[in-house]
Order: sequence, then C-alpha cells, then structure tokens
Amino acid sequence: MKERTKKKNYAKKRVTPSIYFLLWAAFSAFSLLIVLLFGFMQNIMLKQSYKSEIAYNLAEQGKAIRQELGNYDGLFYSAFVRYLAQRYDVGVYILDADGNVVFPVEEDSETDFTESFDFPEKVARLMEQLASAENGEVLYEDPSGEYVYGSELIAYVGTEETQTLYLYVFKPLKLVENVTSEMNIRTMLFAIFVLVLSFAVSSAISGVLTKPITEMTQKAKQLARGDFSVDFHGRAYGSEMEQLAETLNFARDEISRSDCMQKELIANVSHDFKTPLTMIKAYASMIREISGDNPEKRAKHTQVIIDEADRLTSLVNDVLDLSKMRAGIEVLKPEVFDLSEYTRKVLEKFGYLSEKEGYVFAADIENGLYTCADPVKIGEVLYNLIGNAVNYTGEDKKVSVFLGRDPDGNIRFSVTDTGKGIRPEELSTIWDRYYRSAEAHKRPVKGTGLGLSIVKTILERHNFRFGVESVVGKGSTFYVVFPYAVPEEQTKDE
Ligand code: ADP
Repeated sequence: MKERTKKKNYAKKRVTPSIYFLLWAAFSAFSLLIVLLFGFMQNIMLKQSYKSEIAYNLAEQGKAIRQELGNYDGLFYSAFVRYLAQRYDVGVYILDADGNVVFPVEEDSETDFTESFDFPEKVARLMEQLASAENGEVLYEDPSGEYVYGSELIAYVGTEETQTLYLYVFKPLKLVENVTSEMNIRTMLFAIFVLVLSFAVSSAISGVLTKPITEMTQKAKQLARGDFSVDFHGRAYGSEMEQLAETLNFARDEISRSDCMQKELIANVSHDFKTPLTMIKAYASMIREISGDNPEKRAKHTQVIIDEADRLTSLVNDVLDLSKMRAGIEVLKPEVFDLSEYTRKVLEKFGYLSEKEGYVFAADIENGLYTCADPVKIGEVLYNLIGNAVNYTGEDKKVSVFLGRDPDGNIRFSVTDTGKGIRPEELSTIWDRYYRSAEAHKRPVKGTGLGLSIVKTILERHNFRFGVESVVGKGSTFYVVFPYAVPEEQTKDE
C-alpha cells in the first residue's frame, strides 16, 4: 500500500525543464524565426520587386518597339518584327482586329507560337484590355504566366487605306519563376545550414552558461550533506556568477560557524548542566552520610543544593526564553514605565556584590525618564548587560551605569566596565546565540552564554537601537537607545 502511494507521488511530480534546455530551445526558436522571416522576405518581397522590374522594362520595351514600328517604312516587315523581338528579348506579334497574326509571317511552323499555346484566349484578353484602355496601350499580367504590353498600331495597307493593327509584346514570367525557385532552393539549403549551426551554437552557449550553475548545485548538495570544505568559484563565468559564488561561500562560512557554535553550545550547556547536578548529588550524599545530624552543616549543604538547583533553573529558563523569543511565541507587553526607577531597581540586585566582593557601581541616572516597552523584558536586558560588565570588568572592579537624554530626545542607557575589552573581530559575533569567548574567566554573575543573544533578540523585537563600543585593554560600553515616552499621569493632567 505504502509502495503504491509513493509511486503515485512520483507520478504527480511536475518535471521542470532544465535551464540548459530552456536556453537551447529559446536560442533555436529565435534562429528559426529569423530564418523563416528571411525566407518569407526573399520569397514574397524579392519576387514581387523582380516582377515589377520586369513589368517596368516591358513597358519601356513595348513603347520603343511601337515607336520603331511606326517609323519603319521598309518592305520586310516580318523580318523587322523578328529583329525587334530578338533585340529586345521579348515576344512580338502584330495582330489584326480579328485577332489573326499579321506579322511576322511564319515560314517555319515549328516556331509558330500562335499554334502552340492558348493563343486565341490571350488575344481575346488583349482586345478586352485595349477596349478599356485610355491611351491605346496596356500592360498586364496574363493568367498564363507572362507579362503583356499591348497597343494599337495604325498601318497603311495598299495606298490610301488605313487599318488598325495591334501590337502584342510579351515576356514569359517563367524566367522569374526559375530564378526565384533556384533562390528558394539556395535559401532552403542556407536555412538548414543556419539552423544546424544555431542548434550547435545554442547548445554550446547553453552548456557554457549552465555549467557553473550545475557545478554550484553539486557543491551546494555537498554542503547540505555537511561538507564545509567545498569552495564555490564563479569568476570565470562573469560577475553574476562570481557574486553568487561569493554569497554561497559566505553562507558556507556562516553555516559552518553556526554549526561549530551549536556544537560548542551543546558542550557548554551540558557542562553547565553537569556541574550543578554533580554538586547537588555530592551534597545530597554528604547530608545523608555526614551532616544529616548536624543542623548547622545540614543547613549549609542544603543551601548549596538550593543554589545549584536555582542555577539549573535559570539555565533552563534562558534556553527556553531564547527559543520562545526567537520563535515569536512570546508576545511583548509594552507599557509606559519609569525607566529611571527600573534601572535603579535592577542595579540594586547587584548591591550584594559591592558589599561582599568590593565592586564599585557608579550610577549616573537621570530621574523621571519614561519609555514604552515590555518592562519585564527590558529588565532582563539591563540585568544581562550590567551582569556582563561585572563579569568582565577589570581589577578595579568598577562598573559605571548611565541613563540620560540624548540630544535627539531619546533615552540612552549605557554600562561601562574597565575590563580587557572586546577585539574588533569579535564585536559582531558576541551577539550570536552560541558565542562564548574562548578565554576562560571567573564569573561572579552566573551566565549561560546566552545573555547577549537574549538581549539582542529582545531589543530587535522592540526595534530599539543598541550596540557596543570597546577599546581593547581599556574596557567596553554597551548601550541601548530607548524612545522617550510621556508618562501616563502627565497625559491625563493635560
Ligand atoms: P556569557 O555568559 O559568556 O557572558 P553572553 O552572551 O552574555 O555570555 O556574552 C557573550 C560573550 O561576549 C562573552 O563570552 C564575552 O566574551 C563577551 N562579552 C560580553 N560582555 C562583555 C564585556 N562587558 N566585556 C568583554 N566581553 C564581553
């Protein structure tokens, strides 16, 4: 059953033609179109212009013959007519009103055209044409396939008597047909040659154009299988391909980095999970075996267990928080609140450090600065940033917190430490989810390595500007720019 549905799915899959085929087809269709257009032009237009040239020449020749016949006063009329026919390379007859050929008088019946084709009909057509002619001459294409020039002639027969005769000059169009059909054969041969050539050329061009894409697809597949050693090249194939190759190389580096970080995170998180668990187990054993009866020791050991469980909880919470924020499951609940008060409250949480460990907190916080944001999330941001400053500050254990107005009216929060600072190449990576400085450090404030990526996700979702400025050896300043909001009581008063 399963097999059958599988087969069905395959059958349904639409086959998308390859770019190679599409390019080849497009090029070939284009050249076919050009060849057809060329053939059409040659056949129709050339034939037409050739015909009209013959017609024009025939009219000129007919007129000349008519004139020469008019001027002729010799005796050998038949011979003269034959001579003219030869000279102008046309057929010439002189007919009487009944359509009989008067000249040339045929001596040899073999060359008598008047008997060999449908002559009476042609003569009838000439007479018909002449009847409607205005100036006594006509030029037309006879259905039998020749051009005809016809005109009236006045001849003197005997002494006084005049008789109207008719001049019939024609040129067979067979010649035109011959020429054009020969041209057609040549055109056909040329077209076949051009088509074969264009098929070959378009196939070669398509091959060249699609080669880098095929190559890159192969490499991308390799990359998808987890091989980060692939290198994309595109320089030889033009700037677009070069750009694509660069982008893919960049993507490879990013994926590889993210992959490394993910592995590192798993190592870090498992380590961070393991440490409290080991402690919990060790202290629980201690209570059972040693301190169970000693209330003082028991209380101390139980506290360690509680602290470690808290650490585990915050780690799990951080991981959950981040994934919820990232997935967009958690909805922000923005409200207008007193950021000055809020910052002070967060700072107070670190108070135990100044008492116990000698940390110095310098706070420069302007009163009554309201902003509109999700206070819980902003609390996390401030806590993480101040916590980091505590963790990474220098020997003097100094951490400065500032909250005030920027010249543009926005509120600026910043926290500065006097630590080692962050190297420029690490400035952008520290915000990454899995990034953790390679250097081991003691951390008074427990971190999970996810702090800054939580900060980044929260602030990005709020659309707030934030960043870090750092001088190696001197310390770092992390800042956030909040929009200033008018407090609600104030808006009510107005
Ligand atoms: P962690 O729990 O490791 O502090 P974070 O996400 O908060 O995780 O910070 C990521 C990394 O950024 C830290 O491992 C550290 O290398 C660097 N970093 C953060 N804050 C500071 C700071 N104030 N001074 C120097 N480096 C910092």
